[in-house]
Amino acid sequence: MLSQKTFISKLNTDYFCRMSGIYIHIPFCSTKCHYCNFLSTVSLKYRKEVFEAIGKEIAMRKNYLGQKPIETIYFGGGTPSLLSKDELKTLLKRIFDHFEVVSGAEITLEANPDDVNRKISEDWLDIGINRLSIGTQAFNDDILRKLNRRHRADQSLQAVQFAFESGFRNMSIDLIYGIPGLTNSMWEAEIEVAANLPVSHISAYHLTVEAGTALENLIRRKKYPNLSEEAGVEQFEILMDKLESVGYEHYEISNFAQNGLYSKHNRSYWQNKPYLGIGPSAHSYDLEKREWNTSNLRTYFEAIDSGERDFESEVLSKTDFYNEFIMLGLRTSEGVDLKELEKRFADFKADFETKAEKYFQRGQMVFCEGSYRLSRSGKFFADAIAADFFQ
Ligand code: SF4
Repeated sequence: MLSQKTFISKLNTDYFCRMSGIYIHIPFCSTKCHYCNFLSTVSLKYRKEVFEAIGKEIAMRKNYLGQKPIETIYFGGGTPSLLSKDELKTLLKRIFDHFEVVSGAEITLEANPDDVNRKISEDWLDIGINRLSIGTQAFNDDILRKLNRRHRADQSLQAVQFAFESGFRNMSIDLIYGIPGLTNSMWEAEIEVAANLPVSHISAYHLTVEAGTALENLIRRKKYPNLSEEAGVEQFEILMDKLESVGYEHYEISNFAQNGLYSKHNRSYWQNKPYLGIGPSAHSYDLEKREWNTSNLRTYFEAIDSGERDFESEVLSKTDFYNEFIMLGLRTSEGVDLKELEKRFADFKADFETKAEKYFQRGQMVFCEGSYRLSRSGKFFADAIAADFFQ
């Protein structure tokens, strides 16, 4: 068995030449969606301080990725489309001043539909944003109201159209299914609308009830029906059938792309590349350990102001790497590569194969072109199946 130090150094030899990405977390939203457990606040009390601290943190952590070139930059949140053109430009300039960003790097901005108009789309293109991820979520106003989204369906359609007319050719939209009240025929209609938009990427998530959210509270007080797993499975099948029939590639459990326009940034997480996360609650990974910034906005900017950072970290063990390798492999279309499993995790191979046999029997897993993959019926249960393989 390799010692952890030898194991990590071997891992680094394998992966250290890779490029990396930067994630910027903007923790503000205009309203709070019922299901949301991301770090975001509707209070703008510390907006200025947090924005300035994010700029400082970029400079402060210029060596975190060890001079590796940056191939993706991702503004997520929260609602980064609340930032002005000048604010986004300032943060991008900071990044370009302190990191080597490759030519043609993917630069994504998450945008709320009602923040998108023709002028701002042109501004975003002008400052270098070349990919938009628009939080449409649904094309039905009743469903949007149930989720407490602040936009309406026609604003989503307009947002995509404005961005397309302005010149965006790499756009993603989000959809949510498994929502109480969303029937299969309504869901089919939603996918139909999505498939006819000039976008190349669709992220579709099953609604989940996260602890501490308004949704959890509403369900507990019986003001909102509980979710049905059966309906979720049916709607996931409808999603796969419909999107694959119009040329979308199902490359990750929740992600579909046309013409190879994957989310390079999210893919780099699944491919075990290092990344730097800037802003409150943002996570970073340098191939050995994970770090995550404090989620408290005030603590975040006060620490940065004094030249420090408030964060926690953990060194990943061989078991952590294995669990992650399984989780990411099973969620992606590449699957768990047998040769990679033998090379990096020989100690766990026998256990993996015993468990895999169980899922073969159930028809939830297949072995194809040298890798273990989830079958169509296994995909909906990807997280639970992966957890069963964990050490
Ligand atoms: S817009 Fe996104 S981050 Fe903001 S509250 Fe809604 S789900 Fe959460």
